[in-house]
Amino acid sequence: MTFIETRGNDGRKPSEVTFSEAILSPSASFGGLYVPKKLPELGFDFFKAHIDSHYSDLSRALFEKFDVDVDPEDLDNALARYNRFDDPSDPVPLVKVEEDAFVSELWHGPTRAFKDMALQPFGYILSRLAQKRGEHYLIMAATSGDTGPATLETFKNTPNIKVACLYPSGGTSDVQRLQMVTEEASNEKVIGIRGNFDDAQTALKNLLASESFNARLKESHTELSAANSVNFGRIIFQIIYHVSSYLRLVKEGEVSLGEPVYLIVPSGNFGNVLGGYYAKKMGLPVEKLLISSNINNILTELVTKGEYDLRGKSLIQTTSPAMDILKSSNVERVLFDKFGAERTKQLMDDLNEKGVYRLSEDELAMLREDFDATFCSDEEGKAIIAKYAKKGYIMDPHTATCFKAYGELRKKSLKTVIYSTAEWTKFSPTVSEALGHRAKRDLDALQWISEHYGVPVPKVIADLFEKPVIHDTVVDKERIEEEILKFI
Ligand SMILES: *Cc1c(COP(=O)(O)O)cnc(C)c1O
Repeated sequence: MTFIETRGNDGRKPSEVTFSEAILSPSASFGGLYVPKKLPELGFDFFKAHIDSHYSDLSRALFEKFDVDVDPEDLDNALARYNRFDDPSDPVPLVKVEEDAFVSELWHGPTRAFKDMALQPFGYILSRLAQKRGEHYLIMAATSGDTGPATLETFKNTPNIKVACLYPSGGTSDVQRLQMVTEEASNEKVIGIRGNFDDAQTALKNLLASESFNARLKESHTELSAANSVNFGRIIFQIIYHVSSYLRLVKEGEVSLGEPVYLIVPSGNFGNVLGGYYAKKMGLPVEKLLISSNINNILTELVTKGEYDLRGKSLIQTTSPAMDILKSSNVERVLFDKFGAERTKQLMDDLNEKGVYRLSEDELAMLREDFDATFCSDEEGKAIIAKYAKKGYIMDPHTATCFKAYGELRKKSLKTVIYSTAEWTKFSPTVSEALGHRAKRDLDALQWISEHYGVPVPKVIADLFEKPVIHDTVVDKERIEEEILKFI
């Protein structure tokens, strides 16, 4: 498979690239993204053959369909990263919480959030590529709290890779911050920014595009890359679990093969739900992808009104910070898929120049064939957390937003997969407050919930509070470039 560009070609970059090239240099012409030229099709026979497959075998089979330039041995080693998950034989457990609702838990990896699903294997592949080419890469990650820890964890002490991680100071939970600032690896630098996640992401995009910055890096024989969900190397791993969760329902006799289901995905940068969209296009029986977000409800506006309007909006901090996003990067890939490169470039140019784009009525109808969306306030989310805790299921605030969509958006009574993107331990003060105990510190909340609800705190989380802080840099966004060059 080869990859093409969402905003068309500028005559300077190649118009088609391999998977390796797309992941090593993820920024395409005119600031666009790389997308598969043609998605493989998965027929009935493919699904039937994999009902009982181990997650790694299913992954290998999907990669074969994609036919990308990854060495089979490297892929095997990359997939072996799932051995770091709680139960290597079942990295993505599916838990029944209602007669027709099943939670697919994407957070059983080392940093307790769904980012590990893609970043763990992707990190291995990228580092191998760099070694084989004798090249050195700087990975820049902008994080709203979960990408950072997962990126640091996957590249920790890997050859030929350095990581600079930008996070909004004060915009993450205690646990998320500690996961980053206590990470001890000589190839990694963590920088707090005075600003929000959009500031961090914008700074990252500007740096990736900056010629002077790139020139300085060249002097030190370092190339730039990114591990954000704009990197297709992450998206490909985020297609697999949508397929595996569906097949689990088939295996457990909850649906018969071919019967459609709803997928509810808590969305920020749109990488997770994009994986579901691609899976649907490849033939997975999905009735609709239901997007859930918090009161930063730009995706709901897009999918219900056909309007992406940033004007007059500013980011609101919520209890689900991984979804506190206004510029949702991966939406562009759906625009491209539905409307083509020329129209996508026009829409994205409108967004950059005027802060808004509008879809035509026909375009909106096309979008709504695959998606619907709603959003959930912090208060509604807490009520949902409390309701399910009474039934014995503890969830984090991002996952909770999905239950609003579950109650509101389903038009047919079909089985529904709800994606849980973080373990409750990453956002314990919110969960604790929802359950009636106000805790200022994560540690207090963790202990209280664990005691009162009989759920364990994993060792990787408990240990954070004992570790020394390694990274204490916090700067204004104007000084990021300088800090990173110093580190290089
Ligand atoms: C990253 C993240 C999301 C959002 O996922 P996207 O792929 O950016 O839409 C949701 N919840 C949690 C906990 C996350 O870490």
